[in-house]
Amino acid sequence: MKILVINAGSSSLKYQLIDMETEKVMAKGLCERIGIEGSKLNHTPDGGEKNVIEKDMKDHSDAIKMVLDALTDANYGVISDMSEIAAVGHRVVHGGETFSGSVVINDEVKKALEACVPLAPLHNPANLIGIAACEAAMPGVPQIGVFDTAFHQTMSKEAYMYAVPYELYEKHKIRRYGFHGTSHKYVAQEAAKMLGKNPEDLKMITCHMGNGSSITAVDGGKSVDTSMGFTPLAGVVMGTRCGDIDPAIVKFIAEAEGKTIAEVDALLNKESGVQGISGVSSDFRDLEAAQAEGNERAALALDMFVESVRKFIGSYMVKMGGVDAIIFTAGIGENTPVMREAITANLEAFGIKVDSEKNEKAIRGAQMDISAADSKVKILVVPTNEELMIAKETLALVK
Ligand code: AMP
Repeated sequence: MKILVINAGSSSLKYQLIDMETEKVMAKGLCERIGIEGSKLNHTPDGGEKNVIEKDMKDHSDAIKMVLDALTDANYGVISDMSEIAAVGHRVVHGGETFSGSVVINDEVKKALEACVPLAPLHNPANLIGIAACEAAMPGVPQIGVFDTAFHQTMSKEAYMYAVPYELYEKHKIRRYGFHGTSHKYVAQEAAKMLGKNPEDLKMITCHMGNGSSITAVDGGKSVDTSMGFTPLAGVVMGTRCGDIDPAIVKFIAEAEGKTIAEVDALLNKESGVQGISGVSSDFRDLEAAQAEGNERAALALDMFVESVRKFIGSYMVKMGGVDAIIFTAGIGENTPVMREAITANLEAFGIKVDSEKNEKAIRGAQMDISAADSKVKILVVPTNEELMIAKETLALVK
């Protein structure tokens, strides 16, 4: 069975066609500048070269048609007919409190997704457009919604509530939702497989560390707490996002700098994090290079990132009454031995010890156990694969 995975943004659309018999990606690509002059499609069949197709895409419907044309193209296509696509799995950023798992999309679901737009005004509208475009281009093919927030719906109320007036939760649903759920779920499942255990029998801390980062406490296979909050701005220090700060700083900056609330919000989302501290870059490769050249602010930014991740690891160990495995994933988690080493340093008292040699030698893209032989807690590197997880969820619902 072949499943098309779609991740629609406001002017872009990423896709992968996955053969679920082998779990292999048959083709993947990206439509860029949808609705903007100079739109193009990058399409790469498995084992083949990247094809760049420059053509106007006035909206997401045009983009989907181009994707289907590319997938069925005589030269660089991978299927002979679009009827081979059994279902489409859509990444949807926000499912609010309505969706605690993936769903088959119907009119009722679409209405519920509309209702979640205020919670993710940049992302959910694009996701809805992507769904509508696929429905139009592929009538009768099941469309499945897989939510970034769903995995975290198992958090208990004391973990997800904020101590603001209760009426604000009732009126506006202000609470912690958490994000990256598909990634946290995937790596937790893979880690359990690596350890030869049932997820139900494990306490895990999954560290998704990329451009956006979040840490999740996974107890018995369920998310019990996570570092991102009402929005993906909360939690650890990120590429350009501030993570947790004193909320009173918002008003202070607005007054001191003569900025509107919206401007302060943009500053905290786009000009803060390791970028804001270092003044160098949001990319950890650049920061490590700058640190090596003696740049003190780059070094400080990296130290602050490490400190913020360690705070969550500590608090989640207390929350779960221990931890069996710490899992690193995403751009930084998979590629940066220095960060993994720093985050797990001096924790021998808690049974956490990295094997430095294994850590250094971790092969990119491979699952690795980097814990020392005498480490009670397993420390694992598990490459994330959100698209495969979306395809798996889609398959489960179609079946
Ligand atoms: P992601 O959001 O998961 O794609 O992660 C992107 C981030 O991962 C980049 O901004 C970098 O900070 C980091 N990253 C990716 N590759 C490397 C690498 N080889 N070394 C250090 N950091 C990396």
